Amino acid sequence: MTHHDLGLLNAVKKLIIDGKHVDAVEGRVFETRNPATGELLATVAEGDARDIDLAVAAARRAFDGPWRRFTPFQRQECILKFADLVDRHFEEFSLLDTLDMGAPISFTRSRRQRAVGMLRFYAGLCTAIQGHTLPNSLPGDVFSYTLKEPIGVVGAITPWNAPLTSTIWKIGPVLATGCTMVLKPAEDAPLTALRLGELALEAGIPAGVVNVVPGYGHTAGAALAAHMDVDKIAFTGSEVTGRKIIEASKGNIKRLMLELGGKSPDIVFADADLEKAVPGTAMGIFGNSGQVCSAGSRLLVERSIYDDFVEQVSAFARTLRVGNGLDGDTQIGPVVSAKQMERVRGYIDIGIGEGAAVATGGDRMTEGALAAGHFVQPTVLRNVDYRMRIAQEEIFGPVVTAIPFDTKEEAIRIANATVFGLGSGVWTRDGAKAHGMAKAIRSGTVWINCYGALDPVIPFGGYKMSGYGRESGVQHVDEYLQTKAVVMQNG
Ligand code: NAD
Repeated sequence: MTHHDLGLLNAVKKLIIDGKHVDAVEGRVFETRNPATGELLATVAEGDARDIDLAVAAARRAFDGPWRRFTPFQRQECILKFADLVDRHFEEFSLLDTLDMGAPISFTRSRRQRAVGMLRFYAGLCTAIQGHTLPNSLPGDVFSYTLKEPIGVVGAITPWNAPLTSTIWKIGPVLATGCTMVLKPAEDAPLTALRLGELALEAGIPAGVVNVVPGYGHTAGAALAAHMDVDKIAFTGSEVTGRKIIEASKGNIKRLMLELGGKSPDIVFADADLEKAVPGTAMGIFGNSGQVCSAGSRLLVERSIYDDFVEQVSAFARTLRVGNGLDGDTQIGPVVSAKQMERVRGYIDIGIGEGAAVATGGDRMTEGALAAGHFVQPTVLRNVDYRMRIAQEEIFGPVVTAIPFDTKEEAIRIANATVFGLGSGVWTRDGAKAHGMAKAIRSGTVWINCYGALDPVIPFGGYKMSGYGRESGVQHVDEYLQTKAVVMQNG
């Protein structure tokens, strides 16, 4: 299957508003390209503020209208049908993500549980949303209880680095709670979101519940964040954009959920199982070309094993097969765009300027077919001080900064010495040390003797400037619910 089989070049991919495929009001379009080859994949309608207005109006009508009358069991049925459709089309989604943002097909194919299982998990939650009766201390016979109600129209703004799973993380709780949504996917990889919008309709989810408006962040995204009839923004993306969304959302004080960036520490103690820690830490940063918000981009290594461990990770990095994601053998694909490649190269230069040394990698790759794409060598930077910019700022590429430490206390201090707090890893055979570290590190997730494992039941989100709110886990639906208190005086 290629993009020709998927019919991508055949027609402009239109917006999905109120159950219909429509052109953008202004008639504008933009192109989306394969980052491995530079080839044009599709031309996509470019939504902006006027399209967002139409989509929000459709979402509001659906929220006040037919969708409201769906019982939890009916919503559950819709989500299960939707999950079945995503399952049936899973190969297509794997290809779409690989073509649109470059991830290896082996990686996109491995995410069935994160996509289909996730939707089924949200289907299960539909019928578990319950208020409480509240014994109270008010005088007289007073009956009080809470109702859980959907928050309303949700604006979802997603990044390009994991189109299928990050979009499902937004659609799932919207459908489970009875909200409606306007989804603004990243301009670098909008195709998966549009296909999900189509399948949602096929699953019997009423028109207007899931509207999809691709477009640019500063136009469509900004309009959605500022819209006075949007009740909540669920955003995944960079910290810089997160700040803009906080500002834009102030007009009607909308609720926010922000999943932002990270600079996650992956900490290796000398007593770790190093045979597992070498590939574990390496793939914790090089997987998906480092374009993972919780990538273990700071490798903290106990000094007694620092030289040897850094060399082993570098040797592992050199064995990784970098190439076009469509090739089944590829382990590392390109980064998403020329802009991202230049950003990553710029950070490597900054690191060298700051005194770091390149242990392996360090540049783009241009051999043969790779020249046409945006490929960066898996890169290990050593002799890194934790205060350097390369150890503080999110690079979002296949670059790891290796930092030595002497004691557990120092590891904790360095681990916590960034503005972020999304993921972290601890490698040790000492259980008490592992749990002590888990308590001391200020991050939303701590992986022990593994890195990056995610599951529908396990909450994910950030401390500090990595944002607020949690996705996955049973509490995820609370982010999309209002609690209404009802108090009744009897007699
Ligand atoms: P980005 O912030 O540039 O873009 C994310 C989305 O926001 C895109 O849809 C974009 O069009 C939109 N956007 C841009 N400017 C906007 C504005 N002014 N108003 C409203 N929307 C706007 O991020 P990106 O480059 O697409 O993704 C990479 C970033 O996302 C990294 O920082 C990464 O850490 C983060 N990320 C976080 C998580 C998480 O769960 N915490 C997951 C994946 C990615």
